[in-house]
Amino acid sequence: MESQYIFLSGEFVKKEDAVVSVYDHGFLYGDGVFEGIRVYSGNVFRLDAHLKRLYESAHSIMLEIPYTFEEMTEIIVETVRKNELSSAYIRVVVSRGRGNLGLDPSTCSQPRVIVIAEPLALYPKEMYERGLKVGSVATRRNRPDVLSPQIKSLNYLNNILVKLEANQAGVDEALMLNDQGYVTEGSADNIFLVKNGVIYTPPVYLGALEGITRNAIIDLAKRNGYEVREQPFTRHDVYVADEVFLTGTAVEVIAVIDVDTRKIGNGKPGQITNHLLDEFRKLVTEDGVKCYPETKEKAFV
Ligand code: PMP
Repeated sequence: MESQYIFLSGEFVKKEDAVVSVYDHGFLYGDGVFEGIRVYSGNVFRLDAHLKRLYESAHSIMLEIPYTFEEMTEIIVETVRKNELSSAYIRVVVSRGRGNLGLDPSTCSQPRVIVIAEPLALYPKEMYERGLKVGSVATRRNRPDVLSPQIKSLNYLNNILVKLEANQAGVDEALMLNDQGYVTEGSADNIFLVKNGVIYTPPVYLGALEGITRNAIIDLAKRNGYEVREQPFTRHDVYVADEVFLTGTAVEVIAVIDVDTRKIGNGKPGQITNHLLDEFRKLVTEDGVKCYPETKEKAFV
């Protein structure tokens, strides 16, 4: 790619010129919201669901996005087109904007909207074949009454702290528990387990983001005849599961083969996990908002 264009508050600027003020409260206080979205074969996967979550997060923190839902859809699609991408990862950021050094958001004049679309850096194939090692960490998931995990805010310190713990423990990903010890999610992905052919995932009210991949997998699993139960479970249930997997926009569906040094199942990615990954990959190429007219789309695939 020649040069990358980033949408920055109303215009497309080159990557090297895409800068924001050090007085932006997104930078000073993590005051803002964001989304991570994927493009597959020129189609933006579940763009409406991502935008709904973005607007709901913004509404919750009384941040007014200065574009309508339809305008944001067009801005995102245009960012993909402008960079001539077929497969991409999109980052949408809406920050409170520039204010003074106090934390009061009312000093901020105008929210800032940023859309970045980059060719995807996929996780290595070996990670899917081998599966991940995961460790539960001491840091608990934000309590929903302190900072709701449903607000996809720019303050990701809770998740960063658990990722640091995972790095120090030498595992690939962290398992976050809530204040009662129930399993919630990974640092940036939802968790599922399989036991006796039934698929389980924690209800989001325990303290997990309602992942768009999570919801897609629940639908796919049901359509493929599996029983899915959203119910609380503990680390013990994870240790004795037949299969464990994580879901997320970046990671899609990835097997977990070890949790807190307990081998999961036979220590290899499970059959149901692999089946759902296959089905998911079929779904993402068929589904989504098209960025290109038919002829142009072909040129970039
Ligand atoms: N949980 C957290 C904390 C996340 O940041 C993400 C990534 N957005 C997910 C779960 C997975 O959500 P999604 O499938 O919408 O990417």
